[in-house]
Formats: sequence, C-alpha cells, structure tokens
Amino acid sequence: MPAELLTIGSELLSGATVNTNAAYLARRLGEVGVACRRQVAVADAPDAVGGALRDALSRAEIVLTTGGLGPTFDDVTMDIIAQVTHRPLALAPMAAAAVRRFYTKRHRRLQQAALRQAYLPSGGTALPNPLGTAPGLWLPLEVGRLLIALPGVPAEMRAIMERSVLPRLRRRNGRTAIESRTLRTIGIVELSIEAILRRLRVPRTIDIGLYPHLRMVDVRLTAAASSAREARRCLEPVERRLRRALGAAVYGAGEDTLEEIVGARLLERHRTIGVAESCTGGLVTDRLTNVPGSSRYVRGAIVAYANEVKWRVLGVPRTLLARHGAVSAPVARAMAQGARRALDADLGVALTGIAGPSGGSADKPVGLVFIGFSDGRRTISQRLQLLGNRTAIKTQAAQAALNVIRLQLIGRGGSRLGRRRSVRQD
Ligand code: ATP
Repeated sequence: MPAELLTIGSELLSGATVNTNAAYLARRLGEVGVACRRQVAVADAPDAVGGALRDALSRAEIVLTTGGLGPTFDDVTMDIIAQVTHRPLALAPMAAAAVRRFYTKRHRRLQQAALRQAYLPSGGTALPNPLGTAPGLWLPLEVGRLLIALPGVPAEMRAIMERSVLPRLRRRNGRTAIESRTLRTIGIVELSIEAILRRLRVPRTIDIGLYPHLRMVDVRLTAAASSAREARRCLEPVERRLRRALGAAVYGAGEDTLEEIVGARLLERHRTIGVAESCTGGLVTDRLTNVPGSSRYVRGAIVAYANEVKWRVLGVPRTLLARHGAVSAPVARAMAQGARRALDADLGVALTGIAGPSGGSADKPVGLVFIGFSDGRRTISQRLQLLGNRTAIKTQAAQAALNVIRLQLIGRGGSRLGRRRSVRQD
C-alpha cells in the first residue's frame, strides 16, 4: 500500500523545527506494510496545503498529514481537507464531548474557539487524542483511498498513531503480516556487510535495510507474508546465516544498546570494571551507567585530563609520559592498569586521544585515539584513527572502548576490530 506524507508547518521549512514526525511515521508505516513513497513539507498557507494535498491524493492510496489541527487561525488543515475532498465540515459529537472533558478535567473555562477542533469532514471518524484537544481524522475516500490527519505535536501524533491508526491499518491490510529483525553491528563497514549479503543470496522476498551511524550499522530484515508465522519462517534462516557470517561484529538485536550488552556480559562473568578517561571526559562511564543496575559492575571512573592526574592518581610512570606523550599506546595501557588498581576492579579500560579541533600534529593527528584494556593477566591497547568533529570523535571513541570490553569478555579480542591492537603481558 503506497502512502505519501504531508507534514504541515512553516517552522519545518524555516529549519526552526526538525521534521521528526516524518521519520517516525515512515518507519512505523513501513512496519505495518505501508510503504512511504513521498514526503512533502509545506507552509501553513492554505494555497500551499491545498495544492500539496490535491497532488498527493491524485497519486497515493493513503495520504497522511500532520500539523495544523489546532484551534488557532493558522491551523487550516481541516478546512482545506473539507474543500479538497468536497466533504463539508460538521460537528462530531464525540470529538466535541472530548474537547469539553479536556477543559473540565483541568478546571478551565471552555473557549468557544476550542470547539473548532471538533468539526470534521463528513464521512470522517474522529481518532481520540489522549494528550490534547485536537482529534485525529480517519477519512475513507472514493476508490479505496484513505486520508489520515494527525496533530503536529509529536507526542499527540504518536499517541494517536499507536492507539488508533496502526491497529486500523493492520486490519485494513487484511492478510498481510509484516515481521522484521534488526541486527546491530559495530566495527564492520556498510560495504563489507553488503558484500556478505550478496554472498548469502538473500531471497528477494526479504527486504534489507542498512542504517549506518558512527561506526555502527543496523541491518534490518523485513518479510511480508500471509501470516506472522509464515513471515518469521522466511526470516529465521536468513537471520541465522547472516549472524554466522557477521560473527562478533553483531553486538545485539532490536533496540539493544552496546552498553546494555556490555553490562549483561560483565554480570554473566561476575566481573567489575574501572574506567580511566582522558579524551572522552566521562562519556564511557556515562553510557555504562545509563543501564539500570550498573552499580553492580561499575566500580568507578577517573577522568584524567592533566598529566599530573595520570601519574598521581592512575600511577602512569612519568618516564612513559615523557617518552611517548600522553596520547600513546603505552600510556593507554598504563592508564587501564591504573584504573584497575586505583578502583579495585577486575577489569580496567582507558582512553587517551585528540578530540580536536586543535591539538593535532603530523604524527599525532586529530582523531587519533588509543584504548587500553587490562584484566590483570593481560594488558592490550588499540589504536584508532577517527574522523569527524569533536563530538563525533568522542562518541566513536566511547563506542570503540565499550566494544573492546565486549570483545574481551566474549573472548573475541582478536577479531577484525582488534587488528591494529598491540598486546603486552603485564
Ligand atoms: P496545536 O496547534 O494544537 O498545537 P497542531 O496540530 O496545529 O497543534 P502545529 O501547530 O502544526 O500542530 O505544531 C505544534 C507543535 O508541534 C510545534 O511546536 C511544532 O514545532 C511541532 N511540530 C509540528 N509538526 C512537526 C513535525 N513534522 N515534526 C516535529 N515537530 C512538529
């Protein structure tokens, strides 16, 4: 079922508001078998909305709009829908009762203008808005087409989508069941994943999406079939083969985060961790401690920017700092050992690098990061050359450090990611 999205609001065109509604809607629609073919953003001006709506309805089976449903003069969507579809507006009693209830509950006097939101094009159904006054609209049109209008406020739009629109679309879609799986990877580039997928000869019935973000790539497999069971039956063997081919690069599935996976592995193996951070300023610790229950395995962290902190608190030998510089493999290793010792942890992880934009040199450019890891028996380090601005470099360095911990815990430290690693026994 092809669909088009029409997001309405001048603030979307000026750049004042990021069009998060469009991204969310396209994703959620795709999950119920509705493919988004076009997205258009238009200003609140009646002519612009009318023209865009006519165009969309001439092409798509489903047109979904967001924005412009409020009670103020610039909220024109419902009037325009009435004009374009030749369905005059009429008061929808349920919607009017919901507006009244909204005001009574909050002990506020009902303003007549608020009732404007309860007028819907004839033949339309009001979709209850649990968070606001403007209901959504479900309007079946001639020759099987459908128009859906939702408020612009993201939380209200999402609430109506989840409660009313998606269940209705699933029913409308009848016998088509959509199932998908997302494998989350790190340390393998998109092109290599593509090559693996080509080699695996994934059947055409399975739709593949690759979603890269800062050295991580999500691989999404989607299958449509006559039942959920059948769709899963198509997906499962492909997922198994893909997991095998990607190996340790797969750190999780679905909504798993790297820090959750690291936390689960630490708990499984009854290990605690101490962190020493220089270039990431506490980011690794922040991510580790975003996981509920992380106090069971995070012993603590030392943010060691100054060299003096590196030698006084972490015990990094001053000779090492003088000989190799703070951003170096030997210092990263000594910092990891120091974090273990100072924080009395089973494992120590450390980062030192140049996040930029200044501070780089010919032999130590911006983006150079060393990660150290020590488990008491072995201490290793990994050299990375990262690209991007300061925030991107910090984020990627933190991810790489979390991944080093994960790979060491699953005994795969010697995999692709560890290729440029140097190892030294304690
Ligand atoms: P109301 O007028 O009752 O607030 P509405 O349906 O008329 O609701 P708008 O006025 O268009 O919605 O937008 C309300 C808020 O939602 C604004 O803060 C706007 O920036 C935000 N918003 C609108 N459209 C989008 C969008 N496509 N993506 C993200 N935010 C949006």
